[in-house]
Amino acid sequence: TTRLVVVGASLAGLRAVESARAAGFTGSITLLGAEPHPPYDRPELSKTFLTTPGAAPRFYRDPAELGARWLGGRRATALDPDRKVVVVDDGDEIPYDAMVIATGARARTLPGAEGMAGVHVLRGLDDALALRRDLAAARRTVVVGAGFIGSEVAASARALGSAVTVVEAAPTPLARAFGPALGELCARLHTRNGTDLRCGVSVTGFEGDGRVSRVLLSDGTALDADVVVVGIGAEPAADWLVGSGLRLDDGVVCDRALATGADGVHAAGDVVRWHNPLFDRDMRLEHWTGAAEQGAVAGRNAVTPGPSEPCEVVPYLWSDWYGARIQFAGVPGADGVRVFGDPDGRGFVALHRDGDRLAGVLGVNRRADVTRFRARIRQRVGWSEAVEALSGSGLAAVG
Ligand code: FAD
Repeated sequence: TTRLVVVGASLAGLRAVESARAAGFTGSITLLGAEPHPPYDRPELSKTFLTTPGAAPRFYRDPAELGARWLGGRRATALDPDRKVVVVDDGDEIPYDAMVIATGARARTLPGAEGMAGVHVLRGLDDALALRRDLAAARRTVVVGAGFIGSEVAASARALGSAVTVVEAAPTPLARAFGPALGELCARLHTRNGTDLRCGVSVTGFEGDGRVSRVLLSDGTALDADVVVVGIGAEPAADWLVGSGLRLDDGVVCDRALATGADGVHAAGDVVRWHNPLFDRDMRLEHWTGAAEQGAVAGRNAVTPGPSEPCEVVPYLWSDWYGARIQFAGVPGADGVRVFGDPDGRGFVALHRDGDRLAGVLGVNRRADVTRFRARIRQRVGWSEAVEALSGSGLAAVG
């Protein structure tokens, strides 16, 4: 292998470059990215970056330090695995011996949102800059979707002094991520902080003369708004691979070692759906830590001959709402949850059960517990052992 090409110049892509170098790879590396910015920290964009006027983005390590050529503002439009070239939007073809696909995900939007000033999505730095400008003057903000990004933006808008309404189509927020009961517990953070949360209604349209002034809802009501943020999830940025022969199914489908099946081609980050050996199931994640871990494995596997390393990830995310730190590790369990601590007070932990195993742990303001249990989930800790460990930590069981 003499030429490594990484498509997608963000977290997973940069980690792939770092790990390829750490594995001793001395060939050429090209890091191609559609954004005009070098790799930067995305999680802060819905948090402190929005609430701190003039704050500069936090750029990661300069790819040049790793002897990589960063090509910014250029989008891959096709992959030809037979000729082993990546086609770029300006018509260039970049040949590779090994490549890593790390094109992440893009924000979904709603019909009628495009071309309406004041209606935002939030995925990249340019989105965040535009949103920060509008939020600074906002009196009424409407957030569509009570997922992680929507909820963080709601908290940020409240911190900036705006009145905030969150509209969520599902009966409870975060039902898919945590289950309905725990989603409901987290959602109380909104109401406790003066955000108007409306579940079970959806947005049917926007009104405004070029600039949004009202959001129309399925229950026939309308909300006045100066700023709207659509936070209804993301979809993998894999459309450029249509026609490449790679298997696409809600992401780039990979085996346990993040190999796509095309010679020399691996994938990592939000774009990948892979077989996670730890849970023996296919997954696609959209969280920072998993993308970093996958990027490191994909980079090593791309440049290392011989048997490849399986990518074992305990899914993990954090999210900051109104000064509270929400963390989840593992997967929601099929066999119920047990809550410990004080859901309406300083914090709580909820353990998710899958048969006789601990499947997942949710913590609100319980960082040390989540870290500890994330490691234990990797070791496949049993359910009763986990419950015992938590009972010993002085938190009272709820219910
Ligand atoms: P991305 O970061 O999405 O990067 C993909 C890159 O590829 C982009 O720069 C994109 O422009 C580029 N690209 C796409 N298509 C092409 C193409 N055809 N050619 C060239 N380049 C292309 N996770 C947490 O765990 N905790 C958090 O608190 C948290 N907060 C978040 C807040 C926000 C606002 C957002 C958007 C995400 C947040 N996340 C959080 C998720 C986390 O940031 C992502 O999981 C992580 O960025 C995924 O990294 P990635 O490299 O796979 O993809």
